[in-house]
Amino acid sequence: MISAVIPVFNEEESLEAFYKVLIPNLSKLEKIYEVIFVDDGSTDNTLKILKNFEAKNSNVRILSFRKNRGKAEALTSGFQEAKGDYVVTLDADLQDRPEEVKNLLNKAKEGFDLVCGWRKDRKDSFKTILSSKVFNFIMSAFWGVHLHDYNCGLKLYTKEAAKSINLYGGMHRFIPLLVSEKGFEVTELAVRHEKRAFGKSK
Ligand code: UDP
Ligand code: MG
Repeated sequence: MISAVIPVFNEEESLEAFYKVLIPNLSKLEKIYEVIFVDDGSTDNTLKILKNFEAKNSNVRILSFRKNRGKAEALTSGFQEAKGDYVVTLDADLQDRPEEVKNLLNKAKEGFDLVCGWRKDRKDSFKTILSSKVFNFIMSAFWGVHLHDYNCGLKLYTKEAAKSINLYGGMHRFIPLLVSEKGFEVTELAVRHEKRAFGKSK
């Protein structure tokens, strides 16, 4: 079984299109799948749209925060609830492609506990890409977990690795290091990345 954990904060414009590609990609991978949407205190129609998904698909579950608590806490809550042997995370803004989950899963099955997406051809602003390059260089150089892209939203974990971390604040940026420090095997795989189609970076 595979669980997808999706943190969502005010993404009403992208959710329908995201759901339409996510479900077929998950259902053809594993017979049993679940999608856990974590509504991180959205103030737009996000929760209403998620409830529609839940009503028409019994594999969909929703966790909802009363107020915005940040992506790190949203992921942690999703991980605690996940029942799959593998847990994949994706952003809901259509920047991460559900078609890539299959490749990450195949890589994990080679014997890795965490496969991190690497946005090799990243579609963000020059400033974002540059600051991220500096961050990735420092993390790799100082702490010895050598990755091109620490903060890609697309990551696939074994259940044990996902449930081993307790994130808050800005800690989602350090996931590969935190998981590696617990003795899990971490690697990366190049993934497709798209421009944010709607709204702004949260
Ligand atoms: N997100 C969230 N809580 C927040 C900020 C973001 O759940 O406080 C979600 C957001 O809706 C999206 C994902 O986390 O699904 C990534 O956020 P964003 O696209 O803003 O980050 P970026 O791609 O700019 O790094
Ligand atoms: Mg994004």
